[in-house]
Amino acid sequence: MLTAPFEFRRASTVNEAADWLQQGTEVKLLAGGHSLLPLMKLRLAAPAMVVDISGIPELHGVIAHDGVVTVGAMTRHVEVVKNPLILAEAPLLSQTAAVIGDVQVRNRGTIGGSLCHADTAADLPAAVLALDAQMVVSGPDGVRKIPASEFFVAPFVTALGPQELLVAVEVPSMPSDAVSTYLKRPHPASGYPVIGVACWVGYGGATVRLAITGIGPTVFRAAEAEAYLAAHGLNSSSIGEAARLAAVHAPVEDDITGYKRQLVSVYVSRALQHTAKGKN
Ligand SMILES: Cc1cc2nc3c(=O)[nH]c(=O)nc-3n(C[C@H](O)[C@H](O)[C@H](O)COP(=O)(O)OP(=O)(O)OC[C@H]3O[C@@H](n4cnc5c(N)ncnc54)[C@H](O)[C@@H]3O)c2cc1C
Repeated sequence: MLTAPFEFRRASTVNEAADWLQQGTEVKLLAGGHSLLPLMKLRLAAPAMVVDISGIPELHGVIAHDGVVTVGAMTRHVEVVKNPLILAEAPLLSQTAAVIGDVQVRNRGTIGGSLCHADTAADLPAAVLALDAQMVVSGPDGVRKIPASEFFVAPFVTALGPQELLVAVEVPSMPSDAVSTYLKRPHPASGYPVIGVACWVGYGGATVRLAITGIGPTVFRAAEAEAYLAAHGLNSSSIGEAARLAAVHAPVEDDITGYKRQLVSVYVSRALQHTAKGKN
């Protein structure tokens, strides 16, 4: 399958990419290409111009400073899995990237591409939402930060403006006593999550975060379950009620048989049990 014809550009700075985005034609940024190119080959996307952003130095690299890990948008999944700073400060991100697709997908796909593509069933949105990350975005009005809780608007729709690009993801360092789990039920054909649960517990159990992907129109937090666990502690008797609360309040659609809510209940329960085992 071939794509429709398009003009190809290679940007070497964020400003250059932003200038092309502002041309008003249908312009698409190319990161790892593992979501964009299949769409173009299927003719579900036919941009007039494709701008390769992989050579922009500002989009690469991982730094940790003042309790925040900043991950460049072009950081590939494999680097997120192995980077020592991410492993030390935000291990949930590494745990999540480790189960994306296969080796080839992890070698090419990027954190920025995955988050901006905003597939309902992508893995990384759950991790960045559970970690209260901020998206650092550059556009015609300069740089702004968008909390992960406001970034995923609808299936394949983010809060990015048409002329904005994601530069980096800022992830607050997890507390030193944090224990985390990313648990996914992969679709047998695609490997994408039918459901994925990102979970961490820290500050002696006072903070619990649960974010769920794959099952609703966008990734979501299980706020009622989080509050219940923060009040009652993470233990064998609280896990059942937290899983029930997560299922009851899950914003799932088209669930006539109750299958999706049942998946939420089972996978939240399993993710919490796994996290509880690693708890100090
Ligand atoms: C066989 C296969 C299996 C996969 N399995 C999984 C899986 O199990 N779980 C999972 O989560 N994902 C999976 N993926 C998707 C994979 O993670 C992709 O790498 C990811 O969705 C897109 O990242 P990319 O870097 O390839 O982005 P691209 O395909 O290059 O871009 C995707 C979209 O994001 C935009 N974009 C890219 N970077 C930026 C930026 N910095 N700023 C603004 N817009 C940007 C592009 O314009 C495009 O619209 C799979 C993909 C394949 C092909």
